[in-house]
Amino acid sequence: MPAALACRLVSNDGPDVRAGIVVTGTELLTGLITDRNGPWLAQRLGELGFEVAHLLCVGDRPVDLAAALRFLADQGVDLVVTSGGLGPTADDLTTEVVAGFAGVELELDEALEQQIAVILARFRYLAHFSPQALRAANRKQAMVPRGAQALDPVGTAPGLVVPVDGGPTVIVLPGPPRELREMWPAALATRAARDVLARTQPFASARLRLFGLPESEIAVTLREVSETLDLTPLEITTCLRRAEIVIDIRHRPGAEAIRDALIEAIRARHARHLFSTDGTSLDDQLAGLLRGRRIGLAESCTGGLLAARLTEQPGSSDYVAGGVVAYSNAAKTKLLGVPAELIEQHGAVSPEVARAMADGARERFSAGTGVGITGVAGPGGGTDAKPVGYVCICVTTSDGAALARDPVLPGDRAEIRDRSVTVAMHLVRRVLT
Ligand code: ATP
Repeated sequence: MPAALACRLVSNDGPDVRAGIVVTGTELLTGLITDRNGPWLAQRLGELGFEVAHLLCVGDRPVDLAAALRFLADQGVDLVVTSGGLGPTADDLTTEVVAGFAGVELELDEALEQQIAVILARFRYLAHFSPQALRAANRKQAMVPRGAQALDPVGTAPGLVVPVDGGPTVIVLPGPPRELREMWPAALATRAARDVLARTQPFASARLRLFGLPESEIAVTLREVSETLDLTPLEITTCLRRAEIVIDIRHRPGAEAIRDALIEAIRARHARHLFSTDGTSLDDQLAGLLRGRRIGLAESCTGGLLAARLTEQPGSSDYVAGGVVAYSNAAKTKLLGVPAELIEQHGAVSPEVARAMADGARERFSAGTGVGITGVAGPGGGTDAKPVGYVCICVTTSDGAALARDPVLPGDRAEIRDRSVTVAMHLVRRVLT
């Protein structure tokens, strides 16, 4: 569960250039889909140096969108980005509402109408629709607020950049995330967007990742460091992601020395747990470490999740030799050579069996490194000695190194399985470094 610890300590020379985001779509409010545009836009705007003041979500009702725009204007934002509601149907009303907000009329852009007609002609299924209805839909999408710049469609809907007299410039983008992302550079290249961008001052940032440390320790460290180092020029956000602590440090140019001093202080206190200071993820680091080697996997409670995560990396076929999902005892014995007596003596979830699974995977796949994972993912099946969350993980190598852990991991079944994979990957990293 992400948890923010410390936040918002920014100071800078000039006033912040502020931005607001409005994602539209009733299906976002009913919970049918999860917003993928707001967070993406927030990141892009942050990288460009905007202070993102508000991220609002409204349904398809025009009054609600109009109210959101008025609210953001009242907050004094310099830029608003909207997503969604640009399609040809009657409930796609963003363009009309933004024109009303800007106090300008809609005008037909004939060149744009032509451009959309060419795009629509490519969709064969539209041949069954009435030509009049298609023309009306096409025309609706070619209506542009006076003074606005239209952005070439990525799907069928054009985007817009609308300068507003005495108010924030509004960038209007389509809802489908792929279309929105592809259109973003064109939106930034418009004159009105460049005028706002000229006033922003990009943030510099650093990202640290730590593993195996309680989050509270970082809070203590930050408190202690702030007693001798003025951290106010830094914005520091700490959160727990996939069992790792991620510390994001953001600042305006000029605070590099303070940032570096903070990173050094964290390194001095938590060297054993700090595994990334350049933002690289565990997945990226393992991909680098495993290049030129071979790894074999034996998974029980994680059911192949480790194999799935390692093979998310392009090029992983060079080093992932293979994996066995050995859920039953018989599979552990038959496919991995784990002695039945070992399972009987120690139980299927035991450090001994995890090690035999790692050795078995290594041998079966002729790999230099083997991983074994066996545990109680729950919700049932726990005992006093081996409660839900008890997971035995072992990594062995052909030159005799072995590293094992048997933690009781917190969380529900999905979290326990996900965290088991993360712990296993950290053990692999430690063995290989
Ligand atoms: P279209 O021409 O596709 O109708 P549009 O700009 O009108 O474009 P919407 O109708 O608002 O876009 O959304 C179309 C689809 O895009 C939605 O049904 C949904 O699948 C996806 N989508 C829209 N907004 C979001 C969002 N914020 N996050 C994730 N998906 C979204």
